[in-house]
Amino acid sequence: MAEFEPVESQISADTLVVGGGIAGMTTAIETAEVGKHVILVEKLPSLGGRVAAMNQYFPKLCPPTCGMEINLKRIRLSPFVRVLTLAEVEAVSGSEGDYEVTIKLTPRYVNEKCTACGECAKVCEIERENDFNYGLDKTTAIYLPHMMAYPPRYVIDPEYVNDDRMKKCVDACEYGAIELDMQPKTITAKVSAIVWATGWKPYDATKIENLGFGKYPNVITNVIMERIASENGPTEGKIVRPSDQSEIKSIGFVQCAGSRDKNYLAYCSGICCLASMKQATYIRERYPDADIYIFYIDIRSPGRLEDFYVKMQEDEKMHFRRGKVARITESPGTQNLVLEAENTLTGEMTKTEVEIVVLATGMVPNTLDDPPPLDTPLDEFGFIVDGTGRGVVGAGSTMRPFDVSATIQDATGAALKAINVGARR
Ligand SMILES: Cc1cc2nc3c(=O)[nH]c(=O)nc-3n(C[C@H](O)[C@H](O)[C@H](O)COP(=O)(O)OP(=O)(O)OC[C@H]3O[C@@H](n4cnc5c(N)ncnc54)[C@H](O)[C@@H]3O)c2cc1C
Repeated sequence: MAEFEPVESQISADTLVVGGGIAGMTTAIETAEVGKHVILVEKLPSLGGRVAAMNQYFPKLCPPTCGMEINLKRIRLSPFVRVLTLAEVEAVSGSEGDYEVTIKLTPRYVNEKCTACGECAKVCEIERENDFNYGLDKTTAIYLPHMMAYPPRYVIDPEYVNDDRMKKCVDACEYGAIELDMQPKTITAKVSAIVWATGWKPYDATKIENLGFGKYPNVITNVIMERIASENGPTEGKIVRPSDQSEIKSIGFVQCAGSRDKNYLAYCSGICCLASMKQATYIRERYPDADIYIFYIDIRSPGRLEDFYVKMQEDEKMHFRRGKVARITESPGTQNLVLEAENTLTGEMTKTEVEIVVLATGMVPNTLDDPPPLDTPLDEFGFIVDGTGRGVVGAGSTMRPFDVSATIQDATGAALKAINVGARR
C-alpha cells in the first residue's frame, strides 16, 4: 500500500520523483512495477496535476477519471511507492547514485483517520477561494481538493487553522481526524536517482493587455473553460458568461494568445489548437445552436489528430477564421466582445461580436520560476535540457509542452533512465 506521512525522519528509495501529475505518477508506477522503490513528492494536497482539472481530454474526449483512476489504483496498491503530499524538496546534495534530499512536509491538519465523509465541511463557517476552479467559486476552509483527490482526505487551509470557528469542525468529526496542532516536518531521503516532473502553468494572460483578460469578465482562458465545462466545476457544467451567468450562443477562441510572439511566449505549445477544438466539440454537443469562431494563424493538429480538424471544418456552426486577433473590446450594455482580427494572408481587417471569448494560452514550465536542483541545465524558456548527464532527469512538461500520451511516453523513458542510474551503482 502506498504510504503517506512518514513517521521516520529518514527514508530511502531507489528513485525520488518530484511532481505528482500524470508524468510523475507514470514514472513512479513504471519504476515500482519493476520492483524498485519510489518516493513520489507532490506539493499540493493530492495527486493528478493539471489533467485532474480537465473536463475531457483528447483524443478520446473522455473525462480525466478514465485513465487517472487506473493509475491511482496502481499507485494505491503498490508496496513500492511512497506518496508524500504537501511536500517539497528543500535541498539536494550528493551525486548520481547517492543523493541526500531534504523534504519539507506542510501539515494537512487532517490525519489518516479521515474517511472523507464531509461532516466537517457541513458545519464549517469559513469560506476560501477555490484555487482548483481558478477562484471562480469557494470551498469551506476544510475541504476535499477535488472529486478524484488522492489521498481521498480533507485538508485545512493553513490561513484558518487558528480561527476559533474551526473548533466546530473538530467537534463534528467522529473519527478524531482533525489535528489543528499538527506541525511542519523536515525529513531526509536517500535515493539513487531523481526525476523532476513539476509540470506547467498557464501563460499569464493578463500580460496580453490588448486581449482584455482581467479587464472584461467575459474573456476567459482555456484552463478556466475546462473548469466551467466540468460537471464538478463551479457552474456544474453549464457554460455560462461570468458577467451574467447566461448560457452562451456565440463564442470566440483566440489561438496563439501570447504564443509564438517574442513579446510574450516565443514558442508554440503544440497543444492549444487541439485543446480549443476539443472545447468547441463539447460546447457544440451541449449547445447545438451556438456559433463557434476560431481565430488562428495556422492550425496545428499533428499525426492522426488531423482527422479531428477535418471533421470540425465540415461543421457549419464552426467558423475557422484565419487571422491574428489584434484587439478585443467590450460592447457597452451587452458586455459582448468585439474581436478585431487581421487576415494574415490578405491583410483584411474583420470585426466579430461574440458573447464570450476563450484565450488559448500556452504552457509555461514550472521549472522557469522554480528550477530543479544541482544546476540542472534549462533552455531559454525554462525547460530542462536532456542528455547532459548532470543533475536530475526531467519528465513530462518540464521537458517540452506535451499532450498526455506524449507525457506518458516521456515519463516512461524517464523511469528507465532513473533505473539505469541505480544499475550503474
Ligand atoms: C487548456 C489545455 C487543455 C489540455 N487538454 C489536453 C487534452 O485534452 N488531452 C491531452 O492529452 N493533453 C491536454 N493538455 C496537456 C496536459 O495538460 C499535459 O500533457 C499534462 O498536464 C502534463 O502533465 P505533467 O505531469 O507533465 O504536468 P502537470 O499536470 O502540471 O503536473 C505537475 C505536478 O507537479 C506538481 N508540482 C509542481 N511544482 C512542484 C514542486 N516544486 N514540488 C512538488 N510538486 C510540484 C504540481 O502540483 C502537479 O501536480 C492540455 C493543456 C492545456 C493547456
